[in-house]
Amino acid sequence: MSQNRRDFLKSTALATGAAMIINDSYKSVAGIIPADLKTGSMKLSYHPYTLELNHVFTIATNSRTTTPVMLAEIEMNGIFGYGEASLPPYLGESHKTVQEFLSKIDLSKYENPFDLETILNDIDNIEPGHTAAKASVDIALHDLIGKLMGQPWFNIWGYNKNKAPNTSFTIGIDTPEVVRQKTKEAEQYKILKVKLGRKTDKEMVETIRSVTNKPLTGDVNQGWNDKEKTLEMLHWLKEQNMVMIEQPLPKEQIDDLAWLTERSPIPIIGDEGVQRLADIKKAAGVYHGINIKLMKCTGMREAHKMLLLARSLEMKVMIGCMTETSCAISAASHLSPMVDWADLDGALLIKNDFFEGTKINNGKITLMDRPGIGAVKL
Ligand code: MG
Repeated sequence: MSQNRRDFLKSTALATGAAMIINDSYKSVAGIIPADLKTGSMKLSYHPYTLELNHVFTIATNSRTTTPVMLAEIEMNGIFGYGEASLPPYLGESHKTVQEFLSKIDLSKYENPFDLETILNDIDNIEPGHTAAKASVDIALHDLIGKLMGQPWFNIWGYNKNKAPNTSFTIGIDTPEVVRQKTKEAEQYKILKVKLGRKTDKEMVETIRSVTNKPLTGDVNQGWNDKEKTLEMLHWLKEQNMVMIEQPLPKEQIDDLAWLTERSPIPIIGDEGVQRLADIKKAAGVYHGINIKLMKCTGMREAHKMLLLARSLEMKVMIGCMTETSCAISAASHLSPMVDWADLDGALLIKNDFFEGTKINNGKITLMDRPGIGAVKL
């Protein structure tokens, strides 16, 4: 900034009394923190847990009945922040890798839990990868900070929780009989997500259409490979009232994806192809939009930055999840008022949720008026 500009801003601020307003706002922020609260030493702890799924879950690349997760806690002066790492096996993290990674983190050296940028950058720099492990700490730290401030994150970020959208509900690949059954069970959901990427794709969609006319989203999980056939299929899917499609081609087929994005009758959303903030600039033009997931981008801090960057590039935004408890789902839900599509059904797919938090009421994402991420232990 030039000297002239600085002087101009300084004199303008003084003239309008802005300097005084800034001082007052500092006082009011300080006032939220209880007077007796000593920002003390933070302690990280974690324990492994296994989620049991309601149905065998099949996507284009695998099937499973359980998902390992790691539940994390950060304690400071008797206040607990909760976090979670979800570890679907095909993504490469496990109880063992998360334990090893988290054992390298020493939160006791930080005096100020509000210094998120320093703390989370330090953790990110320990080693590349380990994105779910990093997310577990990020979420727990956000929860702790929200509790210290006495505010939910949708308030801290400035989002209206009543604008949270309907979530889609995922119908996995299965026999027509099971698909019909799952579609009937999904009666409360206004939008259904169909897993595609096998020879039975048209049959899957037609089976769902034999039960309901609700709008559909599709997720191919990189299961197709021919761009011309994919385009033909997308036209057919549009006629079936499919409103968007995730990752139709392998993420490496960048030119084919860009070709498709130019021609597709419905938005193409990058999921496997867009992991973190740094991937977004390259994704503009290749996809119409991105699917943000806390577990692949290291948590709420980076997810929020991704949302803002994608919006500034006029891209569509979807928020998604893995199979997760209501802890990580609640954390993600604070961004949902700002997205085009939300797929936050992860906690609905499990039998043994460990938390109570953001709920799905009549298909709509319903955030709690509670400080932090709004999840409490059951
Ligand atoms: Mg996906």
